[in-house]
Amino acid sequence: MRGLLLKVWSSILDMVYPERERCFNCGARLFFPEIKGLCPECLRKIDFINYYCLHCGRVISPEKPALCRLCRSKPFNFNLARSVALYDGMMRELILKFKYGHILELKEPLSELLTLYFHHYYDNYRIDYLIPIPLHAKREEERGYNQAGILADSLGKKCGIPVLTGALLRIKNSQPLYNLGPEERDRVIRGSFALADREKIKDKVILLIDDILTTGATVNEASLVLKEKGGIKSVYVLTLATGRIQD
Ligand SMILES: [Zn+2]
Ligand SMILES: [Zn+2]
Repeated sequence: MRGLLLKVWSSILDMVYPERERCFNCGARLFFPEIKGLCPECLRKIDFINYYCLHCGRVISPEKPALCRLCRSKPFNFNLARSVALYDGMMRELILKFKYGHILELKEPLSELLTLYFHHYYDNYRIDYLIPIPLHAKREEERGYNQAGILADSLGKKCGIPVLTGALLRIKNSQPLYNLGPEERDRVIRGSFALADREKIKDKVILLIDDILTTGATVNEASLVLKEKGGIKSVYVLTLATGRIQD
């Protein structure tokens, strides 16, 4: 009965609003979406993060200590990293479609989720600039855009924080990291970043934005350069997704 009522209601809405918004992932028509461009079914399938390492933000099980094994043995260069969801299932699907499938409309729901979690994690921090993790110019030309840049722009507009591009540069076109182990990732990413505008960022508080934090090698290297060469004391990180760390 409820299904029938919904169908009737849906077709009435279709007549009144033929251009009603659709879910950018599955195409379902949206009634009153909580998140713009994402239907409740798709939203429900995202593994939002509940228990995480207090330093790197990766998912740990609730009975584990507050810091993951890696952060206990060797702290990262950033002050804190936080993520929205586990890089799995629905969030993985959304990021892959956004990043490689060129479904750029997904920036709407993805940046809305990022904004919600920005407020959740970082509302009490005085962030001066958002800096998206840059791609090497050649890689960005091939893809046509930097997914982290699109997310940062959208987040910046929603929370009123300026986005700084061009200060942190990707000077090495390193091979993609996704098939590499942790040590290899560190080695490959080393020397990948440089600073172009030290004066602009000196003494500022930076929030680095990226789509995924896997081992943390990329944001760790970027944080090192910002701190050592840019005179920055605090670098925070916010990503859409991260992995689970086994202790
Ligand atoms: Zn959907
Ligand atoms: Zn950790």
